[in-house]
Amino acid sequence: RDPFSSEVKPRILLMGLRRSGKSSIQKVVFHKMSPNETLFLESTNKICREDVSNSSFVHFQIWDFPGQIDFFDPTFDYEMIFRGTGALIFVIDSQDDYVEALSRLHLTVTRAYKVNPDINFEVFIHKVDGLSDDHKIEKQRDIHKRANDDLVDAALERIHLSFYLTSIYDHSIFEAFSKVVQKLIPQLPTLENLLNIFISNSGIEKAFLFDVVSKIYIATDSSPVDMQTYELCCDMIDVVIDISCIYGVTGDEGGIPYDKESMAIIRLNSTTVMYLKEVTKFLALVCFLREESFERKGLIDYNFHCFRKAIQEVFEVRLKVLRSRKLLSQR
Ligand code: GDP
Repeated sequence: RDPFSSEVKPRILLMGLRRSGKSSIQKVVFHKMSPNETLFLESTNKICREDVSNSSFVHFQIWDFPGQIDFFDPTFDYEMIFRGTGALIFVIDSQDDYVEALSRLHLTVTRAYKVNPDINFEVFIHKVDGLSDDHKIEKQRDIHKRANDDLVDAALERIHLSFYLTSIYDHSIFEAFSKVVQKLIPQLPTLENLLNIFISNSGIEKAFLFDVVSKIYIATDSSPVDMQTYELCCDMIDVVIDISCIYGVTGDEGGIPYDKESMAIIRLNSTTVMYLKEVTKFLALVCFLREESFERKGLIDYNFHCFRKAIQEVFEVRLKVLRSRKLLSQR
């Protein structure tokens, strides 16, 4: 039984003008490519690049503009795709003139909204690494205003757009993706609650639930997140996967060497311990705790065992609900 069949995966569509950075985002977030290597990515002419990464918690598809998506082409069934999409990410290159991008954004959003008003519209103001902080805020304000003015003019102000400043050269792209994915997880409050219970009973200070392949965190306890902690978690996952690639055993399906036995402990010199453990096929728990709390590792592991079971049940219930809905609608 796999409670992570594609039915429960959040489905995300990544769109934007050509060269806005879509393939780079995909390669960096889902395929561990280093940002500098994206300079040599070839432009593709495929209509859509589907990422059937069976190894990730997220289902992900990319579409290019212009030329490849023609809303007026009757053979192009965009309606079906929008219907199955949870979030539409539109990437705008902030280092380029964005007039054309904004008009495409407007066209896309209004089309998609007509088909599926439940889609979350997420705008990535991308490649902000070259901009000063003031400049970033100015760009965001300008793009936000223009995009919303276009919606007001079309009497569609009820469409909500969210904006993020992103770059593949730092963690901002992972953080933005995390937020986009979190909005698509209906079980999020339950996951947060489970994390809260787990940490308060185990003397843990902070815990994240990570999609291992993408380093997107899908939930954390309710204490605030600081960027540094998040970056440490990303680094730890990299270390674990790199070492596992060298010394671990890859399963029959290929993919990353990550399984039930996967766990790691890193002691930071500040008397803090980082502890990583496998939760499901895709997810890992990464937590921070003080050295003294880690002395009661038996208790932590026992609590973890209960936590892990609860998480698996949460996703199984969701799958059952979806399946029963499907059966009902087929009748
Ligand atoms: P696509 O056509 O939308 O898939 O765009 P690509 O992924 O091919 O990216 C086009 C160019 O933008 C490449 O040369 C990338 O190296 C560059 N690029 C992508 N993301 C960033 C970013 O965050 N910052 C900077 N400075 N360049 C980026």
